[in-house]
This record gives sequence, C-alpha cells and structure tokens, in this order.
Amino acid sequence: MILGILSERNTDKRVSLLPEQADALVKKNVAVWMEKGAGENAFAADTVYTDKQVVLQDRNTILSQSDLLLCIHPLSAAEISLLKPGQVIVGVFQPLFNITLMQELAAKQVTLFSLDLIPRTTRAQSMDVLSSQANIAGYRAVLLAATLFPRYFPMFMTAAGSIPPAKVLIIGAGVAGLQAIATARRLGAVVEVSDTRPAVKEEVMSLGAKFIEVEGAADASKAGGYAVEQSEEFKQRQQQRLAESVAKSDIIITTAQIPGKKAPLLVTESMLNSMKPGSVIIDLAASTGGNVFATKNNETIVHNGVTIMGNSNLAADMPWDASKLYGKNVLNFLQLIIDKEAQLNLNFEDDLVKGCCITHGGELVHERVKKA
Ligand code: NAD
Repeated sequence: MILGILSERNTDKRVSLLPEQADALVKKNVAVWMEKGAGENAFAADTVYTDKQVVLQDRNTILSQSDLLLCIHPLSAAEISLLKPGQVIVGVFQPLFNITLMQELAAKQVTLFSLDLIPRTTRAQSMDVLSSQANIAGYRAVLLAATLFPRYFPMFMTAAGSIPPAKVLIIGAGVAGLQAIATARRLGAVVEVSDTRPAVKEEVMSLGAKFIEVEGAADASKAGGYAVEQSEEFKQRQQQRLAESVAKSDIIITTAQIPGKKAPLLVTESMLNSMKPGSVIIDLAASTGGNVFATKNNETIVHNGVTIMGNSNLAADMPWDASKLYGKNVLNFLQLIIDKEAQLNLNFEDDLVKGCCITHGGELVHERVKKA
C-alpha cells in the first residue's frame, strides 16, 4: 500500500506526519511517499524524510497514485478530479461546512475520514485533532494578545509607579478556552470566563479564574460535551452580564462554537464601543462567522482603537508542535484502518472508523453531514 503525504496550501505551515512518524509506518512495510518540501515549514527537511526511506514525489503523482492520502486541508475541485476510485483520505475537511466538496468526493468513489468529526469518546482522545490543535490555539491566542497589548499582563509595583494586572475575558471554556485561561493566569492576568455549559465552572475556578454565572442555560448533557443553541431569554441575560465584563476587559479571547452552526455573536457593536482603546480581541471562532461584531476572518483590524484579530487556525503558526501532535493523532487513527500486512482494512463496526467516515462507496454516509 502507498501512503502519500501532501504539502499544505494557504500559509498553513503544518505537515500531516513528521519524519519519525513516517518512519513508524515505513517499519510496518507501508510505502510512504511525500510531496517535495511538505515538511519544510515545520522544520522537517526532505533529507530527514528520505533518511527514513520516504520517497519524494510531485503532488499530482501522489494525488493520482496513492492508496491512502494524508492532507490537513480540503483538496480543490481540480485535485479531486485526479483521484482514483477506492482511494482513502484522512484529513480535517470540515464536512458540515463543505457539503458540495463532500458530494464531489462521494461521486469520485473516494473514502474520506475527516478527523474533526471523530466521536469525542475516551477511546478517541488520542486521535482528537480538534483538541490537540485547539490547545495550541488557546495558548497562542494569549501570547499574541500579550504582544499586541500596549501594556503589561502582570501587576508590578515599581519605584516608577504601579501597574495593575491586565483584565482578560475568555468566552467559551472548551479546550482552547481552558488553555487560554491557564496561559493568561501564568502571565499574571486577572481572568473572567463565560460559557453556556455550567459543567465547566469547576474547571475554570481550578485554573484560578472567575466564572460568570448566568441562570437558565439549555441542557447540553446529551450533546456529547458540546454546546447547544440557547433560548432568547438566556441570550439576553448572558448579553447583559457579558456587557459589564466586556467594558472592563483589556483582552478578550473568544472561542464559542456550536458544531455545524454559525458561531454565536456574543460581543455586539455597543459592547465593542464600550472597550478602552488599546484593548485586544482574538476571535478564534472567526472561520464560522466570529463571536465579535467586527471580526474579519484571517484579518487583523482596528475598531475604535480596539485591535481585533480573527483567526481560527492559530495552531498553524506553531507548526513544530502542532505537526507533532497532529501526526500522532493521525498515526493512532491509522492503526484502526491499516492491518498487520500493511493493507487498508476498513472496519465500519468500529464506532470511531464509522464516526468520522464521511464518504464511502460512492455515497455520503455520515448522518449529520447528510442532514446538513
Ligand atoms: P467548542 O470548540 O465546540 O466550543 C468552545 C466552547 O464554547 C465550549 O465550551 C462551548 O460550551 C462554548 N460555547 C458555545 N456557545 C457559547 C455561548 N453562546 N456562550 C459562551 N460559550 C459558548 O468546544 P471544544 O473545545 O471542542 O470542547 C467541547 C467539549 O468537549 C468540552 O467539554 C471538552 O472537554 C469536551 N471534549 C471531550 C473529548 C473527549 O472526551 N474525547 C475531547 C475533546 C473535548
């Protein structure tokens, strides 16, 4: 079996597998091909791969001849036309937001495993790319905010005067939000947190942050750890409570998402206008519409003196560790679909294999994607 690693497009510096991870597959008798230069932006040179018996190829050869393709981002329509029936792709294709592309892959008789839809169960934790990459994004968001902010994060008492600690507001305490809390606290900021899932209150408090209580959140206990949409009454109460915190905040990191839906708008225009000039917002929900009124995806803008960075792919800016963790997630998943003879063996009785399979046998097979 030939496994092909493609290089990423669109300024993403990550690679699906680092050399030592490719080596683990070569040792299992998988033939590993890689697009020339695919690891360069993650500081993994071609020669390090070839030392591990990885074969360098051009992109089109990999696309048309590999049995198993690894790429983080979706392929273009022109690239899909090069694929052959029966090929398997493992990546992060955001199927709920890319339905046409999913239909094109199905029509090509390609099997797509999109790891962003792997069930969030204990057994899947080692394959959970959303978590490994969100953890980096949360960390990175705070470091970027600290660099853009024209003041200190920690409190200082100096002979030249006192500096109060920065006030940080984190909206959404999932994986990215929790790491953002921990990072902001390490830098000495005072941190407040909002989330619609009351279950996160304890985690927030254990990290030394204050949880903003809002009564009457919708029950999310059956949503597999995810948030659900809230009632209008709750949204109003949350907005009132958030407005007070936003006005006091120096830094806001927003991460609030509802799977498959547009991100909720939580920082409105009037809230934004209440912030002090020099304040900084990093919106990690930018790619699904953003949590902040003025967010522009993949842009940094200044609105009334407040810098707003919209970026949902901050993990790509830390390509070494992001690739290392992503590659390990992929390797763990590949163990489920490659057998001891180094051949593809797709067992759809396995809930993880079935759970992230989007297209197979010429059809869209994922229930949530079909409904979307
Ligand atoms: P996410 O990226 O989907 O959302 C980020 C956060 O935003 C969530 O905490 C969500 O509750 C919050 N949010 C949504 N709407 C909001 C609103 N209107 N106002 C305020 N906050 C709002 O979340 P995630 O990081 O993917 O994590 C979701 C959950 O899944 C967490 O409980 C996490 O611990 C759990 N999880 C479980 C596993 C596993 O068991 N394998 C793996 C990863 C995550």
